[in-house]
Amino acid sequence: MNTEFLFTTAIYIFVFIFGVCIGSFLNVCIYRLPLGESLIKSNSHCMTCGTPIRKRDLIPVISWCLLRGKCHACGAKISPRYTVVELLNGICYLIIFLHFDVIVHPLYAALVSLMTSALIVVFFMDWDTQLINTWVVIFIGALAIPKYIFCRNDLEKGFTLPSMILGAFVISIPLLLIALISHEKAMGMGDVYLMAAGGLFLGAPNILIAMLIALIVGSVCGLIIKHANGNSVFAFGPYLSIGIAVSALYGDKLADWYVHFTGLDKTLEDTAAMIATIFC
Ligand SMILES: [Zn+2]
Repeated sequence: MNTEFLFTTAIYIFVFIFGVCIGSFLNVCIYRLPLGESLIKSNSHCMTCGTPIRKRDLIPVISWCLLRGKCHACGAKISPRYTVVELLNGICYLIIFLHFDVIVHPLYAALVSLMTSALIVVFFMDWDTQLINTWVVIFIGALAIPKYIFCRNDLEKGFTLPSMILGAFVISIPLLLIALISHEKAMGMGDVYLMAAGGLFLGAPNILIAMLIALIVGSVCGLIIKHANGNSVFAFGPYLSIGIAVSALYGDKLADWYVHFTGLDKTLEDTAAMIATIFC
């Protein structure tokens, strides 16, 4: 077996385990941010009996399996969702680093990984509480800065300043209008900020793709949820998160097809050129 293969395999195993460990921290964010609790102070405790969780029971995924999903003190069931979030984040990191090739675009893969982690937090928090935390959205928007500084010569599409500025507004402005007209019933301000931050990171064509994916997935899941429990009120943030995450990986290819198919390529180019003359 050649050393290059062993080296890259070792990196991918490390990326997966690192993703699972970060997933453990995402669980802390998902449960503590809505309660306004500190993310670093105080140890985790059992939600039923309040017993602090022992150090040896804090190993992601493994501890949950060894405890057979039960608290060691009171035997109360520990939600499998903690493990799902940890594994989900590990799998996402692995897919991202494989997609962008860890040797060729390590920094960009790292930025997309961080954004995906933030989107996982948005997904579960919005699902639980129908609220999107502003700090998590600011974190996503802030990732656009290192992307622009360090990766603009690395990859091409969506990496120009005009494309990023256009991306921040092209979806968020229409969503803002819907939110204002519907008094935040059809669309919340959290959704508006999320698409502004996601658009700033992804650039103009890719955030359109993100919205399209969110609408398709949201419509299908919305129908299923309505059919299952008759509830037509559901958070849209989880679907926007899926849209942004998928678009970060496959947006370029989908955007090429979509803007060409709809004839939007000329309009987007003209608008980006206009923004370029104003800002650059
Ligand atoms: Zn307990």
